[in-house]
Parts: sequence; C-alpha cells; structure tokens
Amino acid sequence: FFSSVLPPPEDPVLSVYFASRDDPSPVKLNLSGGSYRTEEGKPLVLEVVRKAEQQLANDMSRNKEYLPLDGLADFNNLSAKLILGADSPALEEDRVVTIQCLSGTGSLRVGAEFLAKHHQERVIFVSNPTWGNHPLIFNLAGLSVEVYRYYDPKTRGLDFKGMLEDLSAAPSGAIVVLQACAHNPTGVDPTLDQWEQIRKLVRSKSLLPFFDNAYQGFASGSLDIDAKAVRMFVADGGECFIAQSFSKNMGLYGERIGALTIVCTSKDVARNVHSQVLLVVRPMYLSPPIHGASIVTTILKNSDMYKDWTIELKGMVSRIVSMRQQLYEALQARGTPGDWSNIIKQIGMFSFTGLNEKQIRFIAKEYHIYMTYDGRISMAGLSSKTVLIQLADAIHAAIT
Ligand code: PLP
Repeated sequence: FFSSVLPPPEDPVLSVYFASRDDPSPVKLNLSGGSYRTEEGKPLVLEVVRKAEQQLANDMSRNKEYLPLDGLADFNNLSAKLILGADSPALEEDRVVTIQCLSGTGSLRVGAEFLAKHHQERVIFVSNPTWGNHPLIFNLAGLSVEVYRYYDPKTRGLDFKGMLEDLSAAPSGAIVVLQACAHNPTGVDPTLDQWEQIRKLVRSKSLLPFFDNAYQGFASGSLDIDAKAVRMFVADGGECFIAQSFSKNMGLYGERIGALTIVCTSKDVARNVHSQVLLVVRPMYLSPPIHGASIVTTILKNSDMYKDWTIELKGMVSRIVSMRQQLYEALQARGTPGDWSNIIKQIGMFSFTGLNEKQIRFIAKEYHIYMTYDGRISMAGLSSKTVLIQLADAIHAAIT
C-alpha cells in the first residue's frame, strides 16, 4: 500500500536535531530547542508545579472522567483572566469564548480550523521570520499563508516601516498572526508605542488579529506587562483570537496545556462561536487531557501558589538575562569583531545571533554546538559554568 510514499523534504530544524543526536562528542551542546534548562543543563520542574501535583494526588475525590469538549471550566476562566486581565470589560460583558486546547500548537490549530470554516478571508499573514510551525499549522487548516516584513538583518531589530507597509497592503479581513511578546525566533518585540500604531492599522484596515501568546512572562518577567499588547487590542472592543500556552511559563511542555480565546463583539455572537468551536474539537480529539489543566488551575486559583509561580518565573527570566549579559561580555573580552549588542537587546528565550549558515556549520563541526541555520540560539540552554566560554570561543573562531 505504501510503497509510493516519498521521504519527507529535509527539515532544517529536524536535521539540526539529528546532527546533534548523532554527534558522539561528550561536550556537545544543542541550543536549537525551545525548552528552559537549569544552570546544570537539566530540564526544570517548577517547585510550585510539584506542590500542585502533590495536592492533586492527595485529593481522593478526583477521577479520570472525560472533560467536556471545551475542557475544565475553571481553567478556561482563569486562563482568560491571566491574559485579558481580571477586570477586562470583554469578560464582564460575557463576550469571550475560551476553550482548553492541546497547548499553544493545538490552540493555533483549532483557531485556524474555525477560521477556515467561518471566516470569509482565508489569507493569514505571519511575520518574516516566524516560528517554523506556523505555516504548517495554517496551511493544513486550509488557510493561505503570506508574510509581512518584521526583522531587519542590518539593524538586527524590528523593520517597523516594512511591517506597517505590508499590513497596509493586506486585503480587508486578512488574519494577522502577532506574537504577543518574546518573538520567536528573533527576540525582537515592538515597543508599546509601536503596538499602538499596529493596533490602529489593524483596526482601520479591518484585519483580524490572531495573537500567539506562547511566552507570557518570559519577556519582562511580569505576566501583566507581557499581556499589554493583547490587552491594548481587546480594550478597543474589536475581535481578537489568542492562542495561549503554559509550556514555557509553567514549564508544562509535555502536559500539552493551553487555551484558545476568541474575543467577540457581543454575548450572542460569542454563544454561536462557542458552539461552532466545539464542532471543530469534537471530531479532532473529542476532549482535552485533564492533568495539565488541573495543575494550572490549582496554581492560578490559590494566591500563595500564584505568587510562588511568579517568583519562579522571574527566576527563569533573570537566568536568561544573565546568560545574555555574560555571552555579550565574553565576546567583548575576546574582541570578537562586530556589534553584539543585539544579544542583550533581544528578549525572551532566544537570541537571533546574525551568524550565517557557513559559520553555524563551522561551529557545529569544530565546537559541537548546534543551533538552527537561521542563527537562533536558545539562551535558556546556556550555563555560565562551561558553556558560555565554549560558545563565545566558537563564535569568535567562526567570525575571525
Ligand atoms: N508559538 C510559538 C511562537 C512557539 O515558539 C511555540 C513553541 O516553541 C509554540 C507556539 C507552541 O508551543 P506549545 O505547543 O508547546 O504550547
């Protein structure tokens, strides 16, 4: 039956993963992934997550029944409040639909399937560059993916003029994917003034904003500050899609826990949208998993646990900021040619180094350090003990 199945086209992200996996070197280092690592290079389970899990394990009244199609109700309410703000007028006016999904990816996919079925304009714009899975998710749902300019390699910053020009030229009704904060892969976010201009343009051109909120808390260390761009759009009363993930900010990667929020213009519209989203979910996976949702709900419900979470989140962010500073200083100390200030200016989990493919291949071959071929490194995968020196030496050798 399957003899005509062709091998898949080469995937640049997977090929880095395989190259790193097959490298026997004891000092190899894979900086291509998007998961937080401790100073010892180990995955981190937050203390507050362990505590919540303990509490759940001790609660004998819990069972393993199916959740409803839209997931755990408390989880949905608390997740919506986390991104929109507890005092959001949209929530008070009861025109927000939130459903538990399989993390950020599942939320994007359910949102995309809904849009392909119910939105008149099928064109969806993503930033250039963007997270590699965005085009795959949206294409598969039947949307037509286009890009808007975002990153300027010359300044290693935002191409704001290009972004506004491209969004101005988008057809009315087009969907625009905006990363809420800590842009992947560039680490470059618009300022709040720039967000305001983007918002005005999006609304005046009747575009539909679809926020990807995978890193709330990871840009500034504050959940509220990182929600500002989204809240700005919701405050104007217009429609808005938000895909939310707890993979990074609670370290719940493998639990696959996130939410899709759709802000509608009225309670009546929201009621219909809700029932139609359930029809997307039902044939796809029927009902989402219970464990991750229970962990998040336990933490968001309890003010002490919530506070502990914000402290641990800040701890992860400050370790990343310190890695940025240390890498920058190590390159300065070596006199590595070029301006490396982008490493400390960029935010979030990643740094877009500006290294080219030849340099990246050299670093992999000679120093056993792996990064994606666009030059993105996960700052969260570095440690000050050995790795910083190893990476700074490698970059210096590749440049000179
Ligand atoms: N969106 C962006 C920009 C990401 O970088 C990621 C993960 O790396 C995701 C969404 C989805 O992550 P998850 O499905 O684990 O929530």
